[in-house]
Amino acid sequence: MLANGFFRIKLHVYTPAYAVANFRTHLTVAAGVGAAATSYGLYAGWWTLVHAPSLVLLTTLGGIMPDIDADKSHSVRLIFTVLAVVAAFIALSIGRGYLSTMGVLCLALGLYIAIRDGVSVGFRMTTRHRASWHSLLATAGVTVATSVISYRFFAQPARAAWLDGGAMALGMVVHLLLDECFAIDLEGARLKRSFGTALKLFDYRRPIATVLMAGAAIALVPWLPPWPAAFGTATRALQAALGGSQPGA
Ligand SMILES: [Zn+2]
Repeated sequence: MLANGFFRIKLHVYTPAYAVANFRTHLTVAAGVGAAATSYGLYAGWWTLVHAPSLVLLTTLGGIMPDIDADKSHSVRLIFTVLAVVAAFIALSIGRGYLSTMGVLCLALGLYIAIRDGVSVGFRMTTRHRASWHSLLATAGVTVATSVISYRFFAQPARAAWLDGGAMALGMVVHLLLDECFAIDLEGARLKRSFGTALKLFDYRRPIATVLMAGAAIALVPWLPPWPAAFGTATRALQAALGGSQPGA
């Protein structure tokens, strides 16, 4: 009787400990935040209507991106399908200068299949869920990669490329915050064991993965688009607010 009672108490304490936001929640919230932020930017004149759909899509994609390390999830399939399409597009845009039409089509198709069905399996075997990819370091790395791809391969102007990276960053931060919110049991006024595993600076328990991730992000820096002059005012204002140089200096 006593043992049975103890067992029930243990179940009550530990069963909900790993509850996290699911795919649909992440997708819906990120899309909502992306639509709201994009609408506000349109109203404020920060970007045009032409750029708005891609900003909403990138925020939504960022909203599921950290779960790229989940072993089996809708997020993984969707992310690798998008990455495969992007890789095929890049192969088409670069390869047409060097290969025949048939050759470049075969290359694009091969890359698409290899990334969607091959790289995704390798990724699943070498990553651990809610580890390195649930961090601000991963957010910075994916933001840099998005800006580079947008600027170098999708021929976006520098300002638009930085905004694309920013949209991806917004979605990823929303995901990390949502995971942490789901780690708080408001009814029981306590923290679940998953609290603190999503919104972290970097994964200090896996130094090799962290160093590789930081190295990849730093390696991409030379390919980043130039910092747009339009952002200069905001940068100087931020510096002034932080006690640096004065605006306009
Ligand atoms: Zn997550």
